[in-house]
Amino acid sequence: MTDKVIYVDNNATTAVAPEVFEAMKPFLTDLYGNPSSPYPFGDVANKAVAKAREQVAALLGAMPNEIIFTSCGSESDNTALASALATQGRRKVVTTVVEHPAILAPCKHLEEQGYVVKYLRVDSKGRIDLDEARELIDDETAIVSVMWANNETGNIYPVEALARIAHEHGALFHTDAVQATGKLPMNLADSEIDLLSVSGHKLHAPKGVGVLFRRLGTPFVPFLKGGHQERMQRAGTENVASIVGFGVAAELAQANLQDEDTRLRALRDKLEAGLLANAPDAHVNGDLEHRMPHTTNISFKYVEGESILLRLWNAAHICASSGSACSSGSLEASHVLRAMGVDYQSLHGSIRFSLSRYNTEEEVDTVIRTVPPIIRELREISPFGHE
Ligand code: PLP
Repeated sequence: MTDKVIYVDNNATTAVAPEVFEAMKPFLTDLYGNPSSPYPFGDVANKAVAKAREQVAALLGAMPNEIIFTSCGSESDNTALASALATQGRRKVVTTVVEHPAILAPCKHLEEQGYVVKYLRVDSKGRIDLDEARELIDDETAIVSVMWANNETGNIYPVEALARIAHEHGALFHTDAVQATGKLPMNLADSEIDLLSVSGHKLHAPKGVGVLFRRLGTPFVPFLKGGHQERMQRAGTENVASIVGFGVAAELAQANLQDEDTRLRALRDKLEAGLLANAPDAHVNGDLEHRMPHTTNISFKYVEGESILLRLWNAAHICASSGSACSSGSLEASHVLRAMGVDYQSLHGSIRFSLSRYNTEEEVDTVIRTVPPIIRELREISPFGHE
């Protein structure tokens, strides 16, 4: 690929930061020792993993011995659910209809095995109702799992209030913080969250490394059983280079958090305002008052998301994301937008733009210039028709 890509799909994945790549390199080449080996060559790797643990803990406001390195956010999510059900002596899970498949798919599997899973609904802005949470969470509940921020809309959920309700009933509280970590300030030392999932590739670390925060004292059984790694909490020889990269990415995220919040919020607002002003029959999906600063989800009525994406790529190599995904020849609309009751014409023409540290104002201007003519053109040939 020689042409420049305008990557505004950072909730899908992010570029590895150059500082992260540099820090990883020695552990992919010369320093390939196993952290569990007793000789100094292994100890170098061991010390590097320990440093990364401190860096990630600092970003979360947690203690290093509360950090378990995993292979991804999905593994962390699956581990949290399985561990709670194994340790709590209860068979009920409470979650939401808007979780990522990394929670929804294991929940479905649990239901098939006879566990009870209750789903909090959302309103038209994607908000949950704490009163419904109070009704569903009871003394039978093993774990409540609610995401900190939604990957499609950027909505932020009231995780501390939910953790308190869970604890009133003796349940554990887990949050999928894959989209929130490194973007919202976190201080888990002063929190009721018991378990929290993070994924490296959403914050400029490589793919294939994640973290499960486990508050000290939280009952736990490992998901992957085998070797003694991660203090017997997650078997498997450590992915040293990626863990080192994760540590550096965490440190960078922490150092830039406030500045990036301000800069990306302004860029996102400019993008949103520019698109809404130039494309009629468009609206933003989500809770505009409680939303991640870098995400906007816009429905362009009467057009089809996948067609917009294709044309965005052809016109200016713009990468964004659509709420619907072509699967086995049929259009499957986003479960998040469907749960919000978004109407049919808006559902299929929804596009998520998600920014990162590497996006520039010039890129945002290009997106603002490129999208509206595409929408106009598609509406002329739209199978949905328009008013
Ligand atoms: N949870 C959320 C909210 C996500 O957005 C994602 C990735 O898109 C995941 C979990 C899964 O993370 P990973 O790709 O590291 O398994």
